[in-house]
Amino acid sequence: KSQQLIDLEDKHGAHNYHPLPVVLEKGLGVHVWDVDGKQYYDFLSAYSAVNQGHCHPKITQTLIEQSQKLALTSRAFHNNVLGEYEKFVTAIFGFDKVLPMNTGAEGVETALKLARKWGYEKKGVAENAAKIVVCEGNFHGRTISIVSASTDPDARQNFGPFTPGYITIPYNNISALAEALKDNTVVGFLVEPIQGEAGVYVPNDGYLKTCSEMCKAANVLFIADEVQTGIARTGKILCCDHFGFKPDIVILGKALSGGVLPVSAVLANDEIMLTIKPGEHGSTYGGNPLACAVAIEALEVVIDEQLAENASEMGQIFRNRMNHLAGKTNIVTEVRGMGLLNAIVINENEESDKAWNICLKLAENGLLAKPTHGNIIRFAPPLIITEEQIHECCDIIERTILLF
Ligand code: PLP
Repeated sequence: KSQQLIDLEDKHGAHNYHPLPVVLEKGLGVHVWDVDGKQYYDFLSAYSAVNQGHCHPKITQTLIEQSQKLALTSRAFHNNVLGEYEKFVTAIFGFDKVLPMNTGAEGVETALKLARKWGYEKKGVAENAAKIVVCEGNFHGRTISIVSASTDPDARQNFGPFTPGYITIPYNNISALAEALKDNTVVGFLVEPIQGEAGVYVPNDGYLKTCSEMCKAANVLFIADEVQTGIARTGKILCCDHFGFKPDIVILGKALSGGVLPVSAVLANDEIMLTIKPGEHGSTYGGNPLACAVAIEALEVVIDEQLAENASEMGQIFRNRMNHLAGKTNIVTEVRGMGLLNAIVINENEESDKAWNICLKLAENGLLAKPTHGNIIRFAPPLIITEEQIHECCDIIERTILLF
């Protein structure tokens, strides 16, 4: 049955993904089940969109109730949930305003537009001269303007011509930012607090805070792409909260809806957000009542169930266990991460498909994870995982890798 469904996708769908050969049909909490009824721990969580766990009963209940009442109005009219959501989300994250969108990439596009608009109207940059500083190895999504800022050949090849207006610097490099900020047409610094897709690169302590201070001094907006790192994934509601500073613009997505529909958001204070006027930006689905009701519930779950605290504690256990494993085998050369966004690095001297083969074996043993950039395996389970479950999962990973 699995093979038939895989063949169906292969025949009728675009080949823009390379999934593991597992066909899932059900999810609950930290588990998913395939079409043959086999149970797995989900250690990808839809790239951190299901932080609250699959089909969280409160979130799905809200989804059902709101969808039976009013799902979409467009922004041509007001709706009775949008304002409540806007008040709630801005209070949690401490900003004056939110601009609701749908996917993470749309959130990033919105932030880029916002930074440019602010640059022209507040900073006084000459027309069409605004630049955004981005980092090598970034992942911010797949639109033309976003891949224009990418350094990943797969993301760019034959998708040009690219959008101008970026300065690319190495990640985790303060002097490179200092150099870039000398250009007074720079309006924003767009950065992931931890580079997730690149392979869970955690910057040096102090890097982000210093960057934010440098941006402030240069009158440049610090734009944190927290689409993957936000909503408690790294052990705080925002990853930036670990480092004691507040970005000028925050982009959220993924787990903002608990994985039940695409909901993204851009947060900023009035001086920045109010540069966008009616008719200048938007989206048919952005701010729809269904998304708003679900996002309130999804955030309430994160707070009520203390998922940030749990991510922090379970993440510590996970990294301890993985470091212990790295001491027992040459296959694992590095363990890195924060909270429950972690990765292990597979020895580069091993054959090139080693990480893929390990993931296939992990699936066979009941745990789903996927390699990123060849030899890195990211481990990001739902944040509701218990201590007993995280130990069981570490047992599975250890058992699997030690047999290679
Ligand atoms: N930004 C970051 C940091 C991401 O990790 C992702 C997705 O993985 C995105 C943006 C794009 O989000 P979406 O796939 O919802 O467009």
